[in-house]
Amino acid sequence: MKTLDDLIAEGVAGRTVLVRADLNVPLDAIENGQSRITDDGRIRASVPTLSALRWAGARVVVTAHLGRPKGGPEPRYSLAPVAGRLGELLGTDVVLAAHGDEARAAVGALTDGGVVLLENIRFDPRETSKNEDERAAFARELAGLTGENGAFVSDGFGVVHRKQASVYDVAQDLPAYAGGLVLAEVEVLRRLTETAQRPYAVVLGGSKVSDKLAVIEALLPKVDALLVGGGMCFTFLAAQGYGVGDSLLERDQIDVCRKLLESGKIVLPTDVVVADDFSAEANTRTVAADAIPDGWKGLDIGPESVAAFAEVLGGAATVFWNGPMGVFELAPFAEGTRGVAQAIVDATAKNGAFSVVGGGDSAAAVRALGLPEDGFSHISTGGGASLEYLEGKSLPGIAVLEQ
Ligand code: ADP
Ligand code: MG
Repeated sequence: MKTLDDLIAEGVAGRTVLVRADLNVPLDAIENGQSRITDDGRIRASVPTLSALRWAGARVVVTAHLGRPKGGPEPRYSLAPVAGRLGELLGTDVVLAAHGDEARAAVGALTDGGVVLLENIRFDPRETSKNEDERAAFARELAGLTGENGAFVSDGFGVVHRKQASVYDVAQDLPAYAGGLVLAEVEVLRRLTETAQRPYAVVLGGSKVSDKLAVIEALLPKVDALLVGGGMCFTFLAAQGYGVGDSLLERDQIDVCRKLLESGKIVLPTDVVVADDFSAEANTRTVAADAIPDGWKGLDIGPESVAAFAEVLGGAATVFWNGPMGVFELAPFAEGTRGVAQAIVDATAKNGAFSVVGGGDSAAAVRALGLPEDGFSHISTGGGASLEYLEGKSLPGIAVLEQ
């Protein structure tokens, strides 16, 4: 796999380099239709590769997506706020250009070290098309923007598990290199799968158990303990025969969860914070995990569970965490996530544990709850991509760089 360093060593001054970045940040809609970035972690993570190219004199054309537009331009998914923030972080103007004539003109006007950001790449339905020819045609247009001597740098780790035009197909049209972020992420995941030191503890949460069954199955043989919280723990609690009230429950996964529990490695919460409504103003109570009242829903793990999880984490040499322990976005249900995250930070500082956070919402929780980002060994920018890697799947956006 050729890397950013190889490209810079070849010399990029005056060349136009297309970079796929992951700038898919959470936005808050504010009143005048403008959006505000609520967490700029992914933009910051894209800066080192972009700066390295600029300093080497490249003309940089960045592609990225935002949200899930329905295959055409939608103002609320415009990358305009991202272009502004990226410009601040890079210390240069970032020109936002719509695909087509506008992009060709903006790229034509680039000088060495300049940056153009193409408008949300998913405004063109060919980006995510299942039709190979449509995708390939779009990729050729993107590659064509770079003119003679162009190159492609794949640095959007959050999308490397997607077979999409700006991630996968374009890497076949231009000399392709792995960016610094992609390389760093892959190195961490390799360490987690191939050389993880024991004891190895995995913490899983988030909303849907069905999203994470494959990774649970892949990780169980490799880990010593798998701590389960978040919305997904209720399907496991149901598999133990407990009533879960109105909590999230995936009935069709109960049998699978029962099988997984036979491993003896899965640790479930013993107490739960329940609420009579999914809101910050709801009435709440902390109850035993086998005593969730009818009509109430579990929205966080309780303090006894946090203490038990922290005990396991305190003895771990390797920790992988994906998925919040509760609805951390609402203050009454944030303590479980805060407590577990703090326990991981402590294990990292006190025992030198190698700790990795994966998942967009988990990474956002770290920052939203005011935990130190550098308290973890690594915070991954890619949720789905890191889970698929840990499941042992081949990631198309990485495989294409290895060809
Ligand atoms: P990540 O992005 O880190 O992979 P997920 O997307 O799987 O995480 O899940 C994050 C979401 O799970 C959060 O928005 C959070 O509110 C939600 N969640 C966590 N616990 C619960 C719960 N008990 N009930 C409902 N939703 C929950
Ligand atoms: Mg998520």
